[in-house]
Amino acid sequence: MKILIIEDEKDIVQALEYNLKKEGFEVSKAYDGLQGSKLIASLLPDIILLDLMLPGIDGLEILRRAKKEPKTENIPVIILTAKSQEADRVVGLELGADDYITKPFSVRELIARVKTVLKRYGVKSEPMSPTLKFGTLEINSDNHEVKAGGKPVELTAKEFSLLHYLASNKGKVVGRERLLDAVWGIDVAIETRTVDVHIRRLREKLGKAGKHIKTLRGVGYRFIENV
Ligand code: CA
Repeated sequence: MKILIIEDEKDIVQALEYNLKKEGFEVSKAYDGLQGSKLIASLLPDIILLDLMLPGIDGLEILRRAKKEPKTENIPVIILTAKSQEADRVVGLELGADDYITKPFSVRELIARVKTVLKRYGVKSEPMSPTLKFGTLEINSDNHEVKAGGKPVELTAKEFSLLHYLASNKGKVVGRERLLDAVWGIDVAIETRTVDVHIRRLREKLGKAGKHIKTLRGVGYRFIENV
């Protein structure tokens, strides 16, 4: 699912990018109107988040152009506006924007709106949790399937959660306590040694791909992207 953010406020873009990526979106961004307008035509995103006050070409003009082109006219658009821009917002909706959200907004609310608009368009927003791929290791969080070297690996639910958690936090050191909380739940009385036992079994099952999981003695584990 490709989403294009056209917004000149970098803080907003950053927060949106981080959270939308977490939801499985492929995020592209433009900080000015001209770049934004170009990206709409070249990327043909599945949905556009469009700020109205932009350097270069303003948001309404971008919208007008997009809606004139047969190639881009059906791309859903959510406009981002300031409270004071009510008139522009109305024009935006008349020009064919699907929804608007007023700044400051909560990222969670915006993501909910994005999903609603996509659903209205019949775009399946389900594959939001994509397959994580590292070399020959594939981790699919939709169906909990793991493949290593092209072959399926049978993991228990706990082993899958451990692998998925570590891979989602790739590069970071993850302590045993944190893994216990994340995978077993904070209320379960399990010794940290249990984590080690599960990791050992997980590594064995993964074969060569087990090298992605490094042990940091006395500290915890780290998922390495390239092995
Ligand atoms: Ca702006």
